[in-house]
Amino acid sequence: MKNRPEIVIVGGGFGGISAAKALRKTNCNITLVDKRNHHLFQPLLYQVATAALSPGDIAVPIRAIFGDDKNVRTVLGEVVSIDKTNKRIHISDDSSIDFDYLILAPGAIYNYFGNERWKSHAPGLKTLKNALSVRERILISLEEADKLDDPQDRKKYLTYAVIGAGPTGVEMAGAIAEIAKRNMMRDFRNIEIEETEIFLIEAAENVLNGYPEDLSNKAKSDLEEMGVKVLLNNPVKSIREDGVELENSFIETPNIIWAAGVKASPLLGSLDCNLDKMGRAFVEEYLNIPDHDSIFVIGDAAHVKDEDGQPLPALAPVALQQGKYLAKLIKKRESGKKTSSFKYVDKGTMATIGRAKAVADIRGLKFSGFLAWMLWSVIHIFFLIGFRNRFRVFAEWMWHYLTFKRGVRLITNEPDGSQTDSDDS
Ligand SMILES: Cc1cc2nc3c(=O)[nH]c(=O)nc-3n(C[C@H](O)[C@H](O)[C@H](O)COP(=O)(O)OP(=O)(O)OC[C@H]3O[C@@H](n4cnc5c(N)ncnc54)[C@H](O)[C@@H]3O)c2cc1C
Repeated sequence: MKNRPEIVIVGGGFGGISAAKALRKTNCNITLVDKRNHHLFQPLLYQVATAALSPGDIAVPIRAIFGDDKNVRTVLGEVVSIDKTNKRIHISDDSSIDFDYLILAPGAIYNYFGNERWKSHAPGLKTLKNALSVRERILISLEEADKLDDPQDRKKYLTYAVIGAGPTGVEMAGAIAEIAKRNMMRDFRNIEIEETEIFLIEAAENVLNGYPEDLSNKAKSDLEEMGVKVLLNNPVKSIREDGVELENSFIETPNIIWAAGVKASPLLGSLDCNLDKMGRAFVEEYLNIPDHDSIFVIGDAAHVKDEDGQPLPALAPVALQQGKYLAKLIKKRESGKKTSSFKYVDKGTMATIGRAKAVADIRGLKFSGFLAWMLWSVIHIFFLIGFRNRFRVFAEWMWHYLTFKRGVRLITNEPDGSQTDSDDS
């Protein structure tokens, strides 16, 4: 056996970074490959989309995370296929990397359920580019509305349609309601706060499907109190540039946000193993794919069952725990020891709805309101981010809370699509 095993990790998201962090300073060579140069804290993307935070507040260069770790190499590149037999990954620039162990953590992408043309009218919220595109649409719409004297002409620019009432859709609709009802509107002389309409459109019968019923109901009533029109049992028929078509109505707006579903990274298709209907790879008790004991899949890309036989949710803690688990497994295996199978420790679920409004279910203890919001904020800023700038982000957060002000309201695209300057914040 080689002295230093070659571990290749694909994806510098929550799963990949947690595995690499737990393996640094070990007797292994680690190569971390990502198609982007940064680790992104996705749970706060909606804060960038609604101009509360800057992109730099929620993203950090992967290279910077491992700057002091001599055994971690960072590669910028898109992995396009996996050769299981020769234990090799292929990258889009025609290079390849051999591995002894492969940890696949490529996450998920938005799922438009076969309607790919909807994508350009209704961006999802998965990348910094998505968040900036949403932010730009919102800001440009407000500028357009402010130019018009007739309220009827302004209406479409002051209408927002968020599709999908899972945690992302709920957070997004709540954040827009805050902007619309309070924050930014003060700066637009021609717009009345009451003119704004926010629709949260959901095909299922409740918001936050999968959460305890009382918390779903609470989230719905909080949203309605904030002025969001929650349309349940309302599958979208079509999305066009000028609006959203539902079964019995048409919502005219250029402000459409897609939060209705995800599917696993298409890279898993090259593994030639069983995938579930969301494209996730079925893995075994050690998170390896069935016919290979040193190729592992984790995070949003993996189908791992909980004790009740249900797939684990696509959440950051799942990916984090799986990354750490694999680091332990590899270390033990290298020293000839056995490892027990992966067990997820569920520490609870939360969703934020707006300023001082959130719902939480922590090990069966359900609560909502300011306490849940405070807990959500603290966990997201202090425990999950792990960025050096977390104190600045926290200070900005509190500033927004106290003053109702949104900070980052720059439109950086020229009307022809070019950038006004090189600053992306
Ligand atoms: C808007 C939003 C809000 C969310 N809010 C919450 C929340 O409040 N709480 C919570 O727990 N979870 C939340 N989540 C879910 C959470 O972010 C994911 O579960 C988590 O990011 C999954 O981690 P991962 O490592 O599997 O994938 P990711 O974190 O998505 O990382 C995947 C990485 O792989 C890279 N990659 C993909 N394909 C390739 C390839 N072919 N080659 C090279 N690199 C590749 C990507 O660039 C990316 O860096 C949210 C997600 C979104 C989108």
